[in-house]
Amino acid sequence: MNKQILILGAGYAGLVCALQTRKYLTNSEATITLVNKHDYHQLITLLHESAVGARSDRSLRIPLGRVLRDKDVTIHKGTVSRIEPDNRRVLLEDGEELSYDQLVVALGSETEYFGIPGLKEHAFTLKSLNQARLLRTHLESCFARYPLERRPELLRFVVGGAGFSGIELVGEFADALPELAAEAGVPLELVEIYNVEAAPGILPGFDSDLAAAAESSLKQRGVRFLTGVPIVRVDPGVVHLQTGDAIAAETIVWTGGVRGNQLVIDAGFETDPRGRAKVDAYLQSTSHSGVYMLGDCALVLNEDGRPYPPTAQLAWQMGGACGKYLYHDSHGGLKEEFHPEILGSIASLGRKDAVGKVGRSYKTKGRMAYILKDASQYRYLAKIGSVFGNK
Ligand code: NAD
Repeated sequence: MNKQILILGAGYAGLVCALQTRKYLTNSEATITLVNKHDYHQLITLLHESAVGARSDRSLRIPLGRVLRDKDVTIHKGTVSRIEPDNRRVLLEDGEELSYDQLVVALGSETEYFGIPGLKEHAFTLKSLNQARLLRTHLESCFARYPLERRPELLRFVVGGAGFSGIELVGEFADALPELAAEAGVPLELVEIYNVEAAPGILPGFDSDLAAAAESSLKQRGVRFLTGVPIVRVDPGVVHLQTGDAIAAETIVWTGGVRGNQLVIDAGFETDPRGRAKVDAYLQSTSHSGVYMLGDCALVLNEDGRPYPPTAQLAWQMGGACGKYLYHDSHGGLKEEFHPEILGSIASLGRKDAVGKVGRSYKTKGRMAYILKDASQYRYLAKIGSVFGNK
């Protein structure tokens, strides 16, 4: 029987899942359809670089047609508007309906605003190439306008959140804003970069010596940290802090957290309070067995019962495992429980520096850490057969 396998989302999890599934199941065994908003895959782990112009958008946009050529995977460009697992049906924004025998949901995460007033309306976020482009053009316009308007807030840049995303972005700001200032003839001492973090220190939960190394490197390049200070409200061009202080800034970027995808909650899948789908040891929804939930929209627990951080490496490992599970669903045989290989995590601090861990315990910093991070990117590109990216 030819099975209709529908994969929602061509991010790290969905794309690898499509490739792996096709490795195991022939055309006559399964028709694989990959639904995605765009006809390209985005390297979202590098958005902070594109947001300051350090990398071209093009290099982060990998055409799905190229990765999946000769793979017999149907690319369906469309935006999912509703999933109806009980009717085995998925609706798209353009009114189209797709049915399936097996469903894989890999729709990624959304920004968590924690209900902070004004944040969603008045802050930039960095979850797509289009958002990175918006931020980049905004940064350029701030420097272009300053010589005409002379308003200090044009040269004040606030990043909310000092997790990995926030730190990587301020690292890029620290490297790129001096260049933009020089190009615009703006004195560098007028540029102010703030990183505001609610927790007592940056990179909460990460090794304290690596966090201290990151802080020191970024401070030397002019980043001002405000830690233990939650953002409580944002008005147009003003960030309000719990201390009662306010920072007037034309550029406010929010990197304060992620949550699961609302479509997953609306579909009735069992989720945790952050909207991530609960899954069993084989990545199937705990409420709808037979539906696989992958990547940032799912909640995978480690051996201590704590959630694995939602990272690209976890997502693509889930995609690979799911390919095998789909094979077993058709051919029988024993499925192995999903246990990711922890490759480590490295935060870049601009273009020459980074801090992180390789495996579970080897610590690295400086240029070597940056090179290792770059290497992990190539490892991923090799996995999807696109080792030269899209340069
Ligand atoms: P995060 O949740 O890890 O960090 C958000 C930060 O914002 C936290 O430190 C939090 O204390 C802070 N925050 C929350 N509310 C705040 C408030 N009101 N005011 C000020 N600060 C506030 O989110 P993230 O950095 O986007 O990372 C999400 C996941 O992606 C994490 O698991 C992370 O490890 C992963 N990630 C990994 C990499 C990498 O490996 N290089 C890069 C980016 C993200």
